[in-house]
Amino acid sequence: MRNNKTGAAEIAPQDINPPATKLIADWDALMRAFIRPEDEACRKTLVKYMEQILFGLHDFLRQHVGITEAISLKELAECFTETRINENPEKRLADVIRELISDISPHAVNVASPYFVGHMTSALPFFMVHLKTIAAALNQNVVKLETSKVFSILEKQVLAKIHRLIFNFSDDFYRQNVQNIHTTLGSFAEGGTTANLTALWVARNMVFSPQEDFAGIEADGLAAAYHYYGVKKSVILVSRRGHYSLRKAGGILGIGNRNIIPIDVDSEHRLDINCLVDTIQAIKKEGGTKIIAVVGIAGATETGAIDPLREIGEICGREKIFYHVDAAWGGPTLLSERHRHLLDGIELADSVTIDGHKQFYMPMSCGMVYFKDPYIMDNVAYHANYVNRRGSVDLGIRSLSGSREANSLVLDSALKIMGKNGYALLIDHGIITARDFAEEIKRRRMFELVTRPQLNILTYRLCPPHLKQVLLQGSEEERAAATSQLNEINRTVQRIQREAGKSFVSRTTLMRKQDERGVIVLRGVIMNPMTNMTILSEILDEHETIYRAHFQ
Ligand SMILES: *Cc1c(COP(=O)(O)O)cnc(C)c1O
Repeated sequence: MRNNKTGAAEIAPQDINPPATKLIADWDALMRAFIRPEDEACRKTLVKYMEQILFGLHDFLRQHVGITEAISLKELAECFTETRINENPEKRLADVIRELISDISPHAVNVASPYFVGHMTSALPFFMVHLKTIAAALNQNVVKLETSKVFSILEKQVLAKIHRLIFNFSDDFYRQNVQNIHTTLGSFAEGGTTANLTALWVARNMVFSPQEDFAGIEADGLAAAYHYYGVKKSVILVSRRGHYSLRKAGGILGIGNRNIIPIDVDSEHRLDINCLVDTIQAIKKEGGTKIIAVVGIAGATETGAIDPLREIGEICGREKIFYHVDAAWGGPTLLSERHRHLLDGIELADSVTIDGHKQFYMPMSCGMVYFKDPYIMDNVAYHANYVNRRGSVDLGIRSLSGSREANSLVLDSALKIMGKNGYALLIDHGIITARDFAEEIKRRRMFELVTRPQLNILTYRLCPPHLKQVLLQGSEEERAAATSQLNEINRTVQRIQREAGKSFVSRTTLMRKQDERGVIVLRGVIMNPMTNMTILSEILDEHETIYRAHFQ
């Protein structure tokens, strides 16, 4: 590793030192690796490295968010072209760790920077790394009781805590269900994607459930189910802002991703209730189509918009349609007394997705899905003779995943360390700072706020006064030309800012209706408690500076 003149580290193949002593794979070395670090000196080194990992792996990146082009992706890729596995050990553990810390990590992205406000990945509370390390060290597998014991029990407890946060049933309900081996209040998954898939899998199996003379869709498949129920297709309804994981679910569940039907959104990018009602009526009138579920979003990925959860829930209740709420992002807002009303109506859902690695600030990766009905996951139960036997506590019986880590240890401990009020501070900071950010954007002549922050996500764009004027008063053609020009400006500014590596906001293209022209917007996600208005103002200044340098 050498430092170039910009101070960024470069990797050169010749920098990888040959080992001092010849490394061989022998039984003694292997045994030592299983028992403890190679020797006392090595142990000290490893502890030192652990310290370095825990106390600031990102020393290099203090100043930069790390999307910098100081070393291009192409150059970096040229350093990673080895495709053969060595016959003998190449490196000692200590060398591998040193290399990871000083050579590789500097080229990672410093998502912990308060200037990194473009994605749903951010700084972690310090203790999360400790908790995750404990989970790794214990290496429990919660697929079954025999490899996890207390951690299966702990998982049921934390699932009940979050279930209560969402659905708030009676003390009695939780007393009966918290450790009930026959009921399931929810399930951990790899992420929001698989959590959504789990919810819709359950919904699909409910709609095409077994009958006296039909074994059900899970057993006999889609063709048999459609034939038995006399339908030609089945659909899932979700706003145009729905996460693309829902379309994946359409593919995997066999109903086809084109049958994830997009519902138009209102001017605030929330599902348009009238459009939903019309779509449901049209489907019913036409016949031959089953609605598997309606999905409401609590914090859309692009805009942070919250669908009218209560109204959707009431419609689903009336029409007897399964109601899933994708709260992968917004779910933890429920921890804030001040802002939980934003998710009003979420308790009407049949199922709710929440990501642990988003606003629970857990390390990658942790998704969760919760079900109102504690027996509904029987629709996806699987048994095997060597694990997950009937009547056992094995969590793998009702779960899309097989083997998986004891993530509940991280979440349950985090809830103890933070308390509702601790998390509420983070949630409130994000929402309030996003609102202040929106005000600052509105104050500046060079900008336009595109979507106000309903939670802690907002979109905006550079929009110089002369183009604002055209958008207000120009002919249709002139407005279209201005939109194209603005799209070009915002695309370019975002790219240059990212490459400069000092700060980062993301960009997306928003459309309200199918036929609408896309508007390229900058997207800010405020979740790092260190991000403040001084930093956000600097980011806006930087946008303006880049604009002036390239477009004036
Ligand atoms: C992030 C997100 C997802 C997908 O979650 P992953 O953890 O990335 O799989 C789904 N829905 C919404 C609303 C999200 O924000």
